[in-house]
Amino acid sequence: MSKIVLASSNKGKLKELSQLFAEFDTEVVPQSTFNIIDAEETGLTFVENAIIKARHACEQTGLPAISDDSGIEADALNGEPGIYSARYSGSEATAQKNLQALLDALKDTPKSKRTARYQCVIVFMRHSIDPTPLICQASWEGTILTAPRGDGGFGYDPIFWVEEHQCTAGELTPEQKHAISHRGKAIRQFIDQFQRLNPS
Ligand code: IMP
Repeated sequence: MSKIVLASSNKGKLKELSQLFAEFDTEVVPQSTFNIIDAEETGLTFVENAIIKARHACEQTGLPAISDDSGIEADALNGEPGIYSARYSGSEATAQKNLQALLDALKDTPKSKRTARYQCVIVFMRHSIDPTPLICQASWEGTILTAPRGDGGFGYDPIFWVEEHQCTAGELTPEQKHAISHRGKAIRQFIDQFQRLNPS
């Protein structure tokens, strides 16, 4: 069975990605197995940051790598926090502080203008100088509540209202979230393309 390194050390993402890869006929190994230190995310787009992370993991391990760069965009904040979602509350950021920072930034924004979306870019690189990385991108529309609800998922999920289930992403089961989330959709695109390029 071939091995792919998963270029992330975000625990919430790792949990979801390993659930999503459970059916995939390839061994996906988190980069922590190789004691890799996170790459610095210097890009200005999700795509650039995903490539930086995948390339770094390929360089460090000599193996193919897959990365996820994701975030949440609030329309009333012109797309912020976007690529800065993981560090929105500053250098000592935690998921709880980030979520509170977003609630604070939207405190004067009425319900009708609290539209937002999660974005996810998945990049797969065969090696560190792969000139044609496989890039999959998906989004998930929702609105931002004024207070958290639920303790499932991770990050901003307790304030992300999911219209079709009438609850927050933090109140969905993992299966419900994977079926409609930005990450679930992007990973399914990736698995589909990967299997087409590498028929067994
Ligand atoms: P990255 O590790 O730089 O890609 O940052 C991703 C950040 O976006 C996470 O730390 C979360 O703050 C946020 N994020 C991405 N996907 C999700 C999700 O599915 N639920 C909640 N927050 C998410």
